[in-house]
Amino acid sequence: MDTIHITMPDGAVREVPLGTTAAEIAQQISPRLAKEALVARIAPIHTQAAVAASAAAGAAPEARMTSAANGEGLLVDLRAPIDQDVKLSILTPKDPEAIQVLRHSAAHLLAAAVLELFPHVKLGIGPPIDTGFFYDFVRDEPFTPEDLERIEKKMRELAAQDIPNERKMLPKPEALELYRKWDQGFKCELVEERAIEPMVSFYTTGKFIDFCRGPHIPSTGRIRAFKLMSVAGAYWKGQEGNPQMQRIYGACFYTQQELDEYLHRLEEAKRRDHRRLGQELDLFSVQEEAGPGLIFWHPKGGLVRKIMEDWLRDELLRRGYDLVYTPHIMRLELWKTSGHANFYRENMFGPVEVEKDDYQLKPMNCPGHILIYKSRLRSYRELPVRLAELGTVYRYERSGVLHGLLRVRGFTQDDAHIFCMPEQIEAEIEACMDFAFAVMKTFGFSQYVVELSDWDAKHPENYAGSAEDWSRSTRALESTLNRLNIPFKRMEGEAAFYGPKIDVKLIDAIGRPWQLTTVQFDFNLPGRFGLEYVGEDGNRHQPLMVHRALWGSVERFFGILIEHYAGAFPVWLAPVQAEVLPLSEKFAEYGKKVASALKDAGFRAHLDDRNEKLQAKIRDAQMLKIPYMLIVGGKEAEAGTVSVRQQSKGDLGPRPLADFLSDLRKQVDSRAV
Ligand SMILES: [Zn+2]
Ligand SMILES: [Zn+2]
Repeated sequence: MDTIHITMPDGAVREVPLGTTAAEIAQQISPRLAKEALVARIAPIHTQAAVAASAAAGAAPEARMTSAANGEGLLVDLRAPIDQDVKLSILTPKDPEAIQVLRHSAAHLLAAAVLELFPHVKLGIGPPIDTGFFYDFVRDEPFTPEDLERIEKKMRELAAQDIPNERKMLPKPEALELYRKWDQGFKCELVEERAIEPMVSFYTTGKFIDFCRGPHIPSTGRIRAFKLMSVAGAYWKGQEGNPQMQRIYGACFYTQQELDEYLHRLEEAKRRDHRRLGQELDLFSVQEEAGPGLIFWHPKGGLVRKIMEDWLRDELLRRGYDLVYTPHIMRLELWKTSGHANFYRENMFGPVEVEKDDYQLKPMNCPGHILIYKSRLRSYRELPVRLAELGTVYRYERSGVLHGLLRVRGFTQDDAHIFCMPEQIEAEIEACMDFAFAVMKTFGFSQYVVELSDWDAKHPENYAGSAEDWSRSTRALESTLNRLNIPFKRMEGEAAFYGPKIDVKLIDAIGRPWQLTTVQFDFNLPGRFGLEYVGEDGNRHQPLMVHRALWGSVERFFGILIEHYAGAFPVWLAPVQAEVLPLSEKFAEYGKKVASALKDAGFRAHLDDRNEKLQAKIRDAQMLKIPYMLIVGGKEAEAGTVSVRQQSKGDLGPRPLADFLSDLRKQVDSRAV
């Protein structure tokens, strides 16, 4: 009666006394496992009702803690007594889910350290995040960098003491009393709002006590590879108008090596930040006077954009798309028909009144293309119709989320809509994917991940389109990916309500993923707009509609390119391809000749005829990340050569000008990256 059965991941069943803990079982298995264990996952073998019953009886409140990430079972403390037959996994640093528990415990360690040094702070919340943790505090004075150093040192002290993280259950009134006495108003508020059971779960780390569901790692000694990163302002509960808190961020990993790698990536990301480079290289700006999230393309950025767009438009035409232009502002009625005025309203700029009629700045290009499709009756012979536009749209993004070129309020999508018959869809999807890969290859990306988002078939009522539409289209997406040998992740239930889609995320030079290409079915708009074509049978049919964007937007893709190349664009994209640097004024004449020869051959060249030392000129050209510097002096003038210096490789020595020109031609024409 007083024994329970524990099923281990390998299927072995252990019979142990009721109330045995995962820590004890780990110890029985091997001292090494016991040492490495961080947290346990249990899944009751009986019904959920049994768990609820035992939970209600207060027998094992631990079992009601955080759901495990994989949805199977619950994460619990190693010290939690197990009170029923369960499947048990003992998680160590090898298990990805365990890191968030470690980080959560690091947040508690941070709060414990802050309380030791600043006993009068008021505590907010402290959850784990992607790369570490944070904790929110209210304190009259701002935390300084020196404070962070002291706090981090104190954390190391407390970690070295290997203080246990202990769970305690208190009746709710006692819990409130405890925080009231301690004058922790925010915590009182949390207990009031969130404690649904009569007993409230707390964790202590030495003197620090936190209202927390856990689970936690057994003691602080395991928190070794961490670093406090920054302090930022935060509102209590994230709501403007609530009290301002100071949020201390920390990074936390299992090993120092992982932490070092992360810090290095951060450093790299900073070095590549497109906002800084955009200014240094004079590519673009955002002007406060004009408003946030609106991009000004400066001449050099504009030149890169022209080259990007030229490539794209040529490809579009070559691949059977038609180029169109549609108005930036259209009647609000149109957006009611499309449904955007309803389900997309929060992301739109407000309507504008003209002659008592409301007009809407466009947040999307789709209705415009639909009107072109609908402008006359289409025959099956014309399908597929592929309408493409570098279409500028305006969306109301909250000011807090705006970010350089990546999150903006006005941007130009490389948008296209394909209207076709069901039997054409696979070929169209395949062509879209081929185009997407051409984009990645041309612009220098070799790694990517692909996701296929499907509907949640259990809830067809939440979606537009019939089950047949969904299964046919999802099958088309899937079989295309399979045929092209593209590995993909299937995302059940992740599709938008109007259709399944493929998303391509590319991986940049420092391993960051960026959402780029989307190929998206739409079962909603063709019906709303009554789209038709006359079939071979002479009857009218509704075409399938696909939205697709490859870059996403010109702005965003440009931002990604800047970061990917750290501003040093490949020569075919670089706004200045070669900088001519005369050794001194004496050779300005030959310099001019070289620069003209480059320009005459169609290259983007610039002559630096400033009266500066060569070293200074080289440094400046290097700063501007110009691919080639051509140094010209007496020897070069006499021999008709240029001394070539490459941005990334340094001096390449003297070369006949004609040779350099033909080499450059090859590089530009092949779009070498
Ligand atoms: Zn906690
Ligand atoms: Zn669209």
